[in-house]
Amino acid sequence: MKGIWIVGDQLIEDNPLIQNSPRAPLIMIEYTGFSLSRTYHKKKLILVWSAMRHYAEKLRKRGADLTYIKAAEMEKPLNKWIKNKEIDELHISEPANIHLKKDIEKLNLNCKVVFLPDNQFMWQAQEFRDWACSRKKFLMENFYRTGRKKYDILIEKDGKPFGGKWNLDRENRKPPPKDGFQDKPPQHIKFPPDKITKEVIAEVERSKYPTYGKGKDFNLAVTHEDAKKALDFFIEEKIANFGSYQDIMLTGDNVLWHSILSPYLNLGLLHPLNVVKKAELAYYQKNLPLNSVEGFIRQILGWREYMHCIYNYKGEKYLKNNWFNHERELPTIYWYPERTAMNCMASVIEEVRDTGYAHHIQRLMVLSNFALLAEINPLEVKNWFHTAFIDAYDWVMQPNVIGMGQFADGGIIATKPYISSANYINKMSDYCRNCAYNHNHRTGIDACPFNYLYWAFLHKNNKKLRNIARMKLILKNLERIDKKELKQILAQADDFLNYLK
Ligand code: FAD
Ligand code: SF4
Repeated sequence: MKGIWIVGDQLIEDNPLIQNSPRAPLIMIEYTGFSLSRTYHKKKLILVWSAMRHYAEKLRKRGADLTYIKAAEMEKPLNKWIKNKEIDELHISEPANIHLKKDIEKLNLNCKVVFLPDNQFMWQAQEFRDWACSRKKFLMENFYRTGRKKYDILIEKDGKPFGGKWNLDRENRKPPPKDGFQDKPPQHIKFPPDKITKEVIAEVERSKYPTYGKGKDFNLAVTHEDAKKALDFFIEEKIANFGSYQDIMLTGDNVLWHSILSPYLNLGLLHPLNVVKKAELAYYQKNLPLNSVEGFIRQILGWREYMHCIYNYKGEKYLKNNWFNHERELPTIYWYPERTAMNCMASVIEEVRDTGYAHHIQRLMVLSNFALLAEINPLEVKNWFHTAFIDAYDWVMQPNVIGMGQFADGGIIATKPYISSANYINKMSDYCRNCAYNHNHRTGIDACPFNYLYWAFLHKNNKKLRNIARMKLILKNLERIDKKELKQILAQADDFLNYLK
């Protein structure tokens, strides 16, 4: 008898494994071993376990022979089920997490185990290998264009991109308008917890697992139906402004025109191709701005797929990358934002503690930027992100933090390190207006740490960075700083890092 194991982040709606064998016994395991091995945000645990239980309920209503268990280990309960159901072949969709696959392979199971291609992504691992084998550099932009053609998304009849350009990012970096927004960002859609979710909240709140953040005010979708409502809401209310305002950061609103679809995409509640197609259709039907729709589609068909492919392609060793040899410990301000006077850091971390979410620019240009300039060990940075975010999974965390955020891979993912001084944060946010530090000062008691850390970082890593074409202009600016001021900058950066705890 064939049996099917549905892993917790594979909650896809029309699972081909089940469709191909509708009578096969199914098993789902709420594996508490994960929550004992790493601290997770309370909202992440609630999201995953509630979504799993809703999925199980849906399968049972459809008449499936489903066994659902909560267990701290996998081998014993699996073997018990295998024996009870007389399973001789266990089918599993390839897990997105390569470590989980290894763990499964190490289990001593009393039947044959078969991994089948997973259906949660648009690119399969072999397709990426075929694409990558003839290239020296795996530029996301080229990957994205191949994906657009492959899936015929925003493509004219002659094979050219709709509107003449593949990438409209230049139109998408608007700062916040000086006199405020005409259209205020809409309040994001909320899904009040139902009975199942309330039970999970209570369990997580009283559990003995190490947890982080707040479980209170949980209002995420936990079913396919609600995840689709979240997508519809984004398309109706937000996508038109997504492109122009995607880089803006404002105190008290960590979502703005972003979609918060990553938690659903990463669990399988939404399929990336459906999301991309829905956005494309809305463009044709509603005459939406192309910069917004193309920008959004690029995030999913481009960045998301690309990160997943790179994670698989580079394998386990990728995590060990540390190009700048940064070895400092993660400072406690990442856990206790009240310990810093840096308003941008405190605001974003406080919101992450409450919600488990921050949008892309907050993650990249505040949280990760600071960690890179403060010479924190990349693995420590990755582990913090993994704990703090509701959408964190190994496959997406590693390339985003190690590669894009920390440039620890030496330039496989990014063409230059994503670093900035206070200038960028001041331009794109309102944080500097209410900060104890002065964003214009590079030295002195009120100088913004982003400023002296930035110039000190460029100075210390000058030799390495000189070989990166896109850093040349920035390094020229470093040469313009007079020697006396540079000495002060370096001394202040050293002082700051030595006292940073
Ligand atoms: P939107 O801005 O509305 O974008 C739409 C979708 O595009 C997202 O839902 C997401 O699925 C996809 N997307 C966009 N950029 C990326 C990217 N770089 N990698 C993967 N998908 C992308 N994303 C995660 O899903 N989980 C993480 O743990 C995660 N950690 C990150 C850590 C760092 C340091 C950085 C720089 C980025 C990280 N990202 C992560 C990528 C990205 O920031 C989030 O996907 C995005 O902020 C999720 O919010 P949203 O759904 O509102 O996104
Ligand atoms: Fe952040 Fe510096 Fe601006 Fe303060 S002045 S908010 S620390 S960038």
